[in-house]
Amino acid sequence: MIKTIGYAAQSATTPLGAFNFERRELGAHDVQIEILYCGVCHSDLHIVRNEWENTTYPLVPGHEIVGCIIDVGNEVKTFKVGDKAGVGCMVDSCRTCSNCREGFEQFCDNEIIFTYNSPEKQTGKNTYGGYSSQIVVDENYVLQVSGKLDIAAVAPLLCAGITTYSPLRHWQVKEKDKVGIVGLGGLGHMGLKFAHAFGAHTVLFTTSPDKTEDALRLGANEVVVSKNEEEMNKHLNSFNFILNTVAAPHNLDAYTQLLKRDGVMCLVGLPDRPHPSPSIANLIFKRRQLVGSLIGGIRETQEMLDFCAEHNIVADIEIIPIQKINEAYERMLKNDVKYRFVIDMASLKQES
Ligand code: NAP
Ligand code: ZN
Ligand code: ZN
Repeated sequence: MIKTIGYAAQSATTPLGAFNFERRELGAHDVQIEILYCGVCHSDLHIVRNEWENTTYPLVPGHEIVGCIIDVGNEVKTFKVGDKAGVGCMVDSCRTCSNCREGFEQFCDNEIIFTYNSPEKQTGKNTYGGYSSQIVVDENYVLQVSGKLDIAAVAPLLCAGITTYSPLRHWQVKEKDKVGIVGLGGLGHMGLKFAHAFGAHTVLFTTSPDKTEDALRLGANEVVVSKNEEEMNKHLNSFNFILNTVAAPHNLDAYTQLLKRDGVMCLVGLPDRPHPSPSIANLIFKRRQLVGSLIGGIRETQEMLDFCAEHNIVADIEIIPIQKINEAYERMLKNDVKYRFVIDMASLKQES
């Protein structure tokens, strides 16, 4: 077993603190990664606090992992010691269902294994995530990371990046489409960057007027403060696509009515309580669509990382030591994230 140190939540109400545990020994197809940086996703906070009511404690969060390969199993083909690598939200799935075979492992019909808070196939124990010194993962669920980009700022691409890239691609957002991004947090700021890179006319909806300047810098053509009804009404019936990243329940009708005929609003935010029921009339008249999307498959995640390397796209990050993680969660709840916290794992050394 491989001795590992991480940060864990012991219950829904206790702050995260240092935690010693063991990773499994390397199997033939496993790689061992020394974790250099891990992004902080709002899902970490939802799960730490058991807001989705499925948390097993102790819980080591973190699914925006980048690091360096320090050992490989006998039959590993795609990686060698010294390579940079990434791990996102999944570390395994059944590999045999039609979704897995078609590269949509995130929609596996049988047994998707998330990077944390899932039963590990090899040991049956709870998986522990990236707020830790190292991780052992099957090479088929590990991503190649370009040496061209700032590796700390690449970490958030593994969840915030793919979660916004995938729906924009799936619903074929293209040049000159009018695209809305709701919420300027970790996901929202990546959504802005991708929509802009795909050539869309991009409008950012925010509850935080002080984020306007940043939104314009990040790729928005227009910024709308969503609490201002008059400003919202100027955009009625005009959007091809809206990507809603908000992590709290809110009135969806305010956005569906902005879609043009056959327009689509995709929800990726997953609040702990339901949204007020949306107006069906808003959908029926103009054949609008309300849809959802979950991260992206391994193949598409690699495609997204390669796209980012080619177009020089990374997250805007604030690096923190692991000891500041509880404070970072409080700031996240105040919408005070600019625009993704990334933990520098070197700070874990103080704990050992
Ligand atoms: P985040 O960094 O906290 O950003 C969320 C943003 O939503 C905030 O910055 C804020 O932006 C806006 N917001 C927050 N509360 C709001 C409210 N009451 N009304 C309106 N807007 C509000 O969170 P994140 O990491 O981007 O994650 C967002 C959500 O996506 C979470 O629920 C997370 O669990 C989920 N998620 C889903 C997937 C998936 O695969 N579907 C993947 C990752 C994360 P403004 O200040 O601009 O208003
Ligand atoms: Zn995430
Ligand atoms: Zn499957």
